[in-house]
Amino acid sequence: MAAPRIRTPSATHSSRRETLQLPHNSDFNGASQLGLGVYDVTQKNGIRFSSYNAFLEPVRQRKNLTIWTGADLRRLLVDRGRVTGVEMVRKGETLQVQCSGEVILSAGAIGTPMAVMQSGIGPAKTLQQADIEVFVEGIKLARRIFAAEPMADLKGREILPGPGVQSDADILAYLRAEALTVYHPVGTAKMGHDSLSVVEPASLKVRDMQNLRIADASIMPTLLGGNTNAPAIMIGEKCARMILEPQSA
Ligand SMILES: Cc1cc2nc3c(=O)[nH]c(=O)nc-3n(C[C@H](O)[C@H](O)[C@H](O)COP(=O)(O)OP(=O)(O)OC[C@H]3O[C@@H](n4cnc5c(N)ncnc54)[C@H](O)[C@@H]3O)c2cc1C
Repeated sequence: MAAPRIRTPSATHSSRRETLQLPHNSDFNGASQLGLGVYDVTQKNGIRFSSYNAFLEPVRQRKNLTIWTGADLRRLLVDRGRVTGVEMVRKGETLQVQCSGEVILSAGAIGTPMAVMQSGIGPAKTLQQADIEVFVEGIKLARRIFAAEPMADLKGREILPGPGVQSDADILAYLRAEALTVYHPVGTAKMGHDSLSVVEPASLKVRDMQNLRIADASIMPTLLGGNTNAPAIMIGEKCARMILEPQSA
C-alpha cells in the first residue's frame, strides 16, 4: 500500500473541507472513514502493484516453488476429512496432484465455494438452500419496506423484479438471470462460529477438515466499509503466519 503518486487538490484543500464542515482524514484504513483526504492505493511508484508483483515474483526462483498457470481446479480429492490432492485441467488434460501436507484454497469469493462444493465438502444442499432463502427473503423484505409508511407515501411502482414476479421460484429465476456481484463479492465461505460459517477464525481451517485452509475474500464475514483488495492480501499474510507459527514454536 502507498499514497498515490498524483494528488488532486480537491480532496485535501483545507478551505473545501471547511466549507463542507468535514474533518481531514489522513488514514482511511484507520478508526474512522469519515472525512476528506487521500486514499492509500495498491501501487508502487505510481503503478498498480499486484499480489503477484509483491509476493510471488520476488521468490519465483525458489527451488521448492512450482507455479503452474492455466490450470483449472476442478475439485479437491478428499479422504476421511483430509485433502489428499487436487484435480485440475491443464492444456486439455485432467491431472491429479497428490498432497501430503496442507492445501490452501485461494480461488476467490466465487471459485472457492465452487471448489469446496464440487469436492463434496460441507452440506452443499444446505448451503445452496440457505443462499436461496437469504436472497429470496431479501427481495420479499424490500417489498415489505416499500409497502409500509413512509415509503408507501411516495407511491412509486416496483420496476424490478416487477409485480409479475411473486412466487419463490419466479424470484429465484429472476435472481439467477439478473443478479450481479459488482466488484466486491465476499463472505461465500465465511469465518465465524455460527451455523453458516465455513472456516475457523483462529486457523482459517475449513470445519471438519484436517488440512484445508481458505485464504481469500470468501472468508470475510460481511462486506467491509471500504475496498476489499488490501484486506484480501492481509488475509493471505495472516494465513501465512498461521501456517508458519507451529513450525517456529
Ligand atoms: C473489475 C474489478 C475491479 C476491482 N477494483 C478494486 C479496487 O480498485 N480496489 C480494491 O480494493 N478492490 C477492487 N476489486 C476487488 C478485488 O479485486 C478483490 O477483492 C480481490 O482481488 C479478492 O482477492 P481474492 O484473492 O479473494 O480473489 P481473486 O483476486 O479473484 O483471486 C482468485 C484467483 O483464483 C483463480 N481461480 C478461481 N477459480 C479457479 C479455478 N477453478 N481454478 C484455478 N484458478 C481459479 C482466479 O482466476 C483468480 O486468479 C475489484 C474487483 C473487480 C472484479
